[in-house]
Amino acid sequence: MRKIVFALVALLLAVPVMAQKVCAHRGFWLCEEAGYAQNSIASLRLAQEGGFWGSEFDVHLTADSVVVVNHDADFNGIPIHTSTYRELLGTRLPNGETIPTLNEYLHQGAESACMLVLEIKPQDTVEATLALAAQCVRQLKAHGLLDPERVMFISFSYDACKWIAANLPGFQNQYLEGNVEPERIKADGISGIDYNWVVFHKHPDWVARAHAIGLTVNVWTVDDPDEMRCLRDLGVDVITTNRPDLAVELND
Ligand code: MG
Repeated sequence: MRKIVFALVALLLAVPVMAQKVCAHRGFWLCEEAGYAQNSIASLRLAQEGGFWGSEFDVHLTADSVVVVNHDADFNGIPIHTSTYRELLGTRLPNGETIPTLNEYLHQGAESACMLVLEIKPQDTVEATLALAAQCVRQLKAHGLLDPERVMFISFSYDACKWIAANLPGFQNQYLEGNVEPERIKADGISGIDYNWVVFHKHPDWVARAHAIGLTVNVWTVDDPDEMRCLRDLGVDVITTNRPDLAVELND
């Protein structure tokens, strides 16, 4: 018996510590000086070429029901929800691209195995948020990307998370809530947690508690090397960062 225990311990020690998965926040967009605007096709391509585990992006719905990729509810001052897609074409991203449609974004997304981390932004009404979620699912399907190995969902909208949980139960679906204990997230049917650094700093035991009940644990967005090291040591599964290159370096 003792020999078996020793053999198991030796085996565990021989297995290298698993590196965290690294997710580029809004594409690899801190290279803006090189022309890689956030949430652009160019920044997604750079994240893909960098070989990162995933690339995160945000979506909104225009007044004429086109899904577009953008962080804020306005694009260069033009409100997305009350404007048509055509009205958004009069202004451009800092790198010269027009605002990407989800269709264009997924066309590029299908080019590599990089996980697409799709953030469903809350819209003006719950109905609009769920309509956005449904459109995203249809388009992912059309691009052959409706696959738990290729896409995961995150949202500040609890309704969107519940909708994904009900309609796509096998998919990673994480609620971007700042301060909810892992056990409640699990009880509400969400598959993982995605906290910001401040929450992990306050509650370092939440990573182990989440893992103990089968949740995956992501963090957004951490760019400081010391914070990255701390999260690595806590065993966070995915680091979402504006500096994916730095996170990969620390993993080595
Ligand atoms: Mg986002």
